[in-house]
Amino acid sequence: MATIFSKIISGDIPSYKVAEDERFYAFLDINPLAKGHTLVVPKHEVDYIFDLDDEELAAMQIFAKRVALAIQQVFPCRKVGQAVIGLEVPHAHIHLIPIQRESDMIFSHPKLKLSDEEFKAIAAAIWQKWSER
Ligand code: AMP
Repeated sequence: MATIFSKIISGDIPSYKVAEDERFYAFLDINPLAKGHTLVVPKHEVDYIFDLDDEELAAMQIFAKRVALAIQQVFPCRKVGQAVIGLEVPHAHIHLIPIQRESDMIFSHPKLKLSDEEFKAIAAAIWQKWSER
């Protein structure tokens, strides 16, 4: 059975897309720790990120780098933090989160509640910066 992220990639479930190429897809996390919190996923469905072969893992990281630089242009921050957890959705993904301090990466912290309009505006702004690169 397809994962929820595969259904997002195929368009069967909506998402706030921020970047896409032939192999990878990036979209806003619906329970963000910060504005701009993004997930990067391979279109190829694999549960555990370290089961990706070396070439695909490297390509995913390079794609995530481009997305992170676009996020940082939209949401100036000290750094864009990166995390891999994957205990909730069994489809490999990288979290990219604009951070000012270490505690901004604590996943048990309360999540932001954003409106559909806010998500759309954030996604459009990151997409714009990503596509300029
Ligand atoms: P984890 O597998 O622990 O890395 O967590 C999965 C992440 O996916 C969580 O931060 C969720 O908020 C996020 N998530 C789950 N379903 C969706 C969805 N339909 N759209 C966007 N983000 C999602």
